[in-house]
Amino acid sequence: MKPHLKDHTTFRLGGPCRELRTACNPDDALRILEAWATDSRPWLPLGGGSNLLVADAGLPDHSILRLAPAPEAGPLSADVAIWAGTLLDDLVADACSAGLSGLEDFSGIPGTLGGAVCGNAGAFGRALSDVVAAVDLWTPSRGLHTLSADALDYAYRSSALQRPPLFPCAVLRVHLRLTPVPSPAPLLARRAEILALRASKHPDTAQVGTAGSYFKNLPPATPGGRRQPAGALLEAAGAKELRVGGAYVFPKHANILVTDPATATAADVHALADLLASAVLARFDVPLVPEVRAWPP
Ligand SMILES: Cc1cc2nc3c(=O)[nH]c(=O)nc-3n(C[C@H](O)[C@H](O)[C@H](O)COP(=O)(O)OP(=O)(O)OC[C@H]3O[C@@H](n4cnc5c(N)ncnc54)[C@H](O)[C@@H]3O)c2cc1C
Repeated sequence: MKPHLKDHTTFRLGGPCRELRTACNPDDALRILEAWATDSRPWLPLGGGSNLLVADAGLPDHSILRLAPAPEAGPLSADVAIWAGTLLDDLVADACSAGLSGLEDFSGIPGTLGGAVCGNAGAFGRALSDVVAAVDLWTPSRGLHTLSADALDYAYRSSALQRPPLFPCAVLRVHLRLTPVPSPAPLLARRAEILALRASKHPDTAQVGTAGSYFKNLPPATPGGRRQPAGALLEAAGAKELRVGGAYVFPKHANILVTDPATATAADVHALADLLASAVLARFDVPLVPEVRAWPP
């Protein structure tokens, strides 16, 4: 039987793919990618599936490379290269314990380091681009090579890794630049504070499907200001009243779409997202842009 992507995404949605292979280190990933390249097979990289909405029809022609955590991680230092399949939150915990600052604000973000680097994930006004020095990536045309962060065209929740000519690529290793601090205590305290905040504000992913915030926040109203939360516009536009099939808006946060795993389809989520974006456009004349990536791309 073909693998189903619903088993590999936090929305718990998505149909079959042609083949799904899992790599736990760069050598395994390279072996798989180079074999696929010999028959020009369409493929895509997958991390934790926590920022993805995969169509109900799946991607029957695509092979999927899932980058998964290695059984054992090496020691951390201020300038370090990390396997892209490492879970971001495990890395944050290790960095905080080792007294290395730079990642603590990303506590609790699900998914892998590679997925976070690709989408420039972040929180509290900080993003992965603040700490990425370079990436080792594989592309069909250039094979394995290294690009410095300057070449990744980082912006809010966006990078050149998401677009041609780099896309599709697989980030295999991420070079981070962290800052040693005298004591881990403040980093661990910040981490605990953020984890508690997230637990109080976010859905319980054991109960419902979700990919976190569905739309990107809006540019600041004044230069240098904070981004305007899309959730505020959605709430004012009546988002919390809307539902399509098994997809609805999380009652505590109008920008988080959740699904009932027993009944929801990806089509329900797309239809609900369209309704929400139309409501905000009609009321505020503001076009919302999805942060969640749709597959097929
Ligand atoms: C409850 C919840 C809370 C969340 N909170 C936040 C938050 O605070 N801030 C935030 O930014 N996001 C948040 N997210 C979204 C998500 O966790 C992040 O975007 C995360 O970084 C995605 O990583 P992933 O490994 O799951 O990527 P995936 O969902 O697996 O992939 C996302 C995209 O990246 C590509 N990709 C993945 N790995 C690689 C790789 N190694 N090389 C090249 N491309 C790759 C995929 O092809 C896909 O296009 C949240 C999600 C949930 C469910």
